[in-house]
Amino acid sequence: MRPGAVFALEASSLMSRLRFQVAATAHGSSARAAHFTTLHGEVLTPLFMPVGTQAAVKGLTTEDLEAAGAQMLLANAYHLLLRPGPEVFERVGGIHRFMGWRRSVLTDSGGYQVFSLSNERTVTEEGAVFRSYVDGARVVLSPERSIATQLAIGSDVMMAMDECVASTSDRETAAAAMHRTHRWAARSLAARDDAPTAIFGIVQGACFDDLRRESADHLTRLPFDGYAIGGLAVGEAKGERERCTALTAALLPAELPRYLMGVGTPLDLLEAVDRGMDMFDCTMPSILAKQGVAFTSAGRLNLYRGVYKLADEALDGRCPCPTCGHYSRAYLHHLTKTGEPLGWQLLTKHNLRFYHDLMSLMRRHVVAGTFADFRDAQRLVLGRADDENPTVVQPRRQRRRDEPALDGFAVRRSPRGHTTVVHLDSGEMMHGGLDPSLEANALYVEQSRLAERLREATETPLVVWDVGLGSANNAMAAIRACENADPAPLRPLHLVSFEHDVASLRLALRHAPQFPHLHSPAPGHVLRFGTWRSKRAAAEWTLLEGDFRASMADAPTPDCIFYDPFSAVTDRSMWTLACFERVFAACADHDTELFTYSASTAVRTALLAAGFVVARGDPTGSKPETTLAMTPSAASRAAARGRRVLGTEWLARWHRSHARFPSDVPAAAHATLADRIAALPQFRSGASDPTP
Ligand SMILES: [Zn+2]
Repeated sequence: MRPGAVFALEASSLMSRLRFQVAATAHGSSARAAHFTTLHGEVLTPLFMPVGTQAAVKGLTTEDLEAAGAQMLLANAYHLLLRPGPEVFERVGGIHRFMGWRRSVLTDSGGYQVFSLSNERTVTEEGAVFRSYVDGARVVLSPERSIATQLAIGSDVMMAMDECVASTSDRETAAAAMHRTHRWAARSLAARDDAPTAIFGIVQGACFDDLRRESADHLTRLPFDGYAIGGLAVGEAKGERERCTALTAALLPAELPRYLMGVGTPLDLLEAVDRGMDMFDCTMPSILAKQGVAFTSAGRLNLYRGVYKLADEALDGRCPCPTCGHYSRAYLHHLTKTGEPLGWQLLTKHNLRFYHDLMSLMRRHVVAGTFADFRDAQRLVLGRADDENPTVVQPRRQRRRDEPALDGFAVRRSPRGHTTVVHLDSGEMMHGGLDPSLEANALYVEQSRLAERLREATETPLVVWDVGLGSANNAMAAIRACENADPAPLRPLHLVSFEHDVASLRLALRHAPQFPHLHSPAPGHVLRFGTWRSKRAAAEWTLLEGDFRASMADAPTPDCIFYDPFSAVTDRSMWTLACFERVFAACADHDTELFTYSASTAVRTALLAAGFVVARGDPTGSKPETTLAMTPSAASRAAARGRRVLGTEWLARWHRSHARFPSDVPAAAHATLADRIAALPQFRSGASDPTP
């Protein structure tokens, strides 16, 4: 050991307010087991901190949190500064007394939220100025104000204020933000003064190795009580995050805690502990619980899936949590399907217990010297998804050399020279033919008369389902239409996006400079938090991840549906009669119109058989014809809206078509379905077709 290392260890231990001590380090891994002491007691690492943004972990009491094994909660200075305000914490004696929580609390500085949540913000050397989302007041958040707020909240571990930039930022932007973070780190430390509260510095530098080195080198010369890695988990690939984590962790002092902010899945935590990280926070256990996802000792389960309808066994037979002790998978499936808050709450309780148990298991294996074996075994287990009813995974097509890619998607130039995202298994391109933004506008925004409908004088939000978020082209087209409308819309917009695989948006966000429609904080925010609210217009955006046919039960009744999943070749189930029947059931009594790029005969048959009245949609430039489907109520206004309903000529051609039945209708049922189609009112009236 270098003589300097001994000195550094002693100096840091003396200065640290946490008295952090490594109890054991793993063999064949950088994992370690440690403990430290805050103003509210001892904390063991590896440590997962549930996120209590608003001084509450969604749906859970502090007793639930203690029972699940939470040792430390994360709260957020940004939100608590705006509401209830630091004066409330000063009056009631801090967050512990306020929320009835006896164990430790770590507070985030608010830096990340200012950059990700605030639209109207300006950043100067002094700090960030933004508008409060609570009352519209002008708020200044400087390093000094952040620390004063965190002290008022009564935090045990504060974070220095940092300037966050997109992980896709260019080097110059990332370097400037990093240098300002360093100056703010010194001011944050000075503002802490001799308060007994610990404070961590945050290493920035986006995905540039030399900047991460420079940042770690600079900050570790300052007397922080621990260090965090910031600016990750915002869209970069898993492999890249792990590489950057390993690089940065190795640069941080061994004798102080290391905290990886905002990460992640159980598998992500295993990989990060393996790379030497000690502390984590993430909203995932709760956000995924809302979508019916549970992490179990047999891998990840999606309780939305129909396979659990009759499953009478416990969620996880090996889990000691109250959810697994009292309720069956069938009941949790039912609660999830019906959107009962109890389902979300029970699954959050279980997921948090799973996270905390995983952390203490890792700790036990580090201490026992068996961590490397445990890690190898858990990589397989934690990577499983619905193992009892696996979905078939096809071998991935080779991506092109030097092509940026993530989880089965790649960024590619379309034949017309636009940057787009391609699905590697099928080779299918999103908006391959035309400028994606123009296509989104023509096909969905203009055809649905979105701007006109937002001018209607009602407070009832116009609900738009964006089925197949993809790289958010259609969603951003709708948001732009609302934000840029002149005069401002009278009617609020509630956009609900559905996506079962958000990797395509993550990938596009990593290359945001090449995607003009992503030059907005909205997509990154909705991806991270599941929801976003515009500061410029009455527009709200919700993202429902998971299986569309299941998650549609969670969404309000739509007025318009932008139906834009991958084609039937790539995603067959989205174009079946069974799927359109569910869509129809969700809006049958409502004035709803569905727009889709497909003009395929089988898709139109499925829509007709599901109960819709079907019309020709406008051409889009790349497609000579698209499709529009209406509920009976919308169809009664079809003439007034100029909709071109399919008539007897289309039906005559339909009878001659060789591919006219949806893939999920068995051959034995074709004749009956043909009779039903022929008898539909839209053909019985004898109306001839409009000109295509
Ligand atoms: Zn459980």
